[in-house]
Amino acid sequence: MKHKYPNSFWIDLNEQHWNGKSVKTLSTENSFDRNTIYLNWKKLNLTWRNQNEANLLNIADLEINIERAKKISSTLKAKPRQPLIERFLQYVVPTNEKECWIWKGALRNGYGILNVNKYAEGAHRISYELYKDRIPSDLLIRHLCNNPPCVNPYHLEIGTQQDNMNDMVRSERSAKGENHSQASLTNEVVVKMRNMRETNGLSYQKIADMYNVDLKTAYKAILGITWSHI
Ligand SMILES: [Zn+2]
Repeated sequence: MKHKYPNSFWIDLNEQHWNGKSVKTLSTENSFDRNTIYLNWKKLNLTWRNQNEANLLNIADLEINIERAKKISSTLKAKPRQPLIERFLQYVVPTNEKECWIWKGALRNGYGILNVNKYAEGAHRISYELYKDRIPSDLLIRHLCNNPPCVNPYHLEIGTQQDNMNDMVRSERSAKGENHSQASLTNEVVVKMRNMRETNGLSYQKIADMYNVDLKTAYKAILGITWSHI
C-alpha cells in the first residue's frame, strides 16, 4: 500500500501504540484506517500486540482484499464500530489453504453461525463473502472438504442446487464404478492440475471441468489429500 509517510512515522506510531495508545486512537488521530496502519507496520516487520492483530496480518499475507471485506461488512450492516472481519476472526484462526479452519463460535446443524444485523448467518457464507466475493441470492456455498464447521475460503465453492445434485450423481456413479474419470487421473494429470492451481490460480471448479472429474475429486487431488505420494 502506498503512503506518503516515511518509515520513521510508522515506527513512531508503533512506539505510541506500545505506550498505551490503541490502534483505534492512532487511526483517528492520524486519519488512517486501521488496515493501513497494520499493513505499514507489517512492511517494517514491527511486532504485534495480540492474536487478533496477528490474524489480520495472516489475512494480509493471504492477499485478501481487506478494503472489500470492510465494504461488505458495512453492506451487511455489522456494528459500525467493529468491522465484520474482526468479529469473524474472534472465532477462527486462519492457518493455510490446506487445513480446515474450524469455527469456534456458535454452531447450528454443525455449521458455524454469526449474528449479522440480528440474523444468524452461516459463518462459511460470511467467510466466502469476506475473502472471495458476494454471493448472489439464488446461489449456495458448498464445502469441498465435507466439513461443515470449516470456514476456510479455499474449501468453499459457490454453486447452484443443480451443481449439488450433479456432484451427488457423479459421486454415486463413481461409487458404482461407472465413472472412469477418477480412475483416469494419473500422476501426470494431477501434477498438471496442481500447476494450474498454483501458477494460474484457476478455480477448483474450472480445473475439474477441464479434466471431467467431479469438483471434490479435483479439490482433494490438488491439495494432496489424495495422490499425496506425488
Ligand atoms: Zn475445510
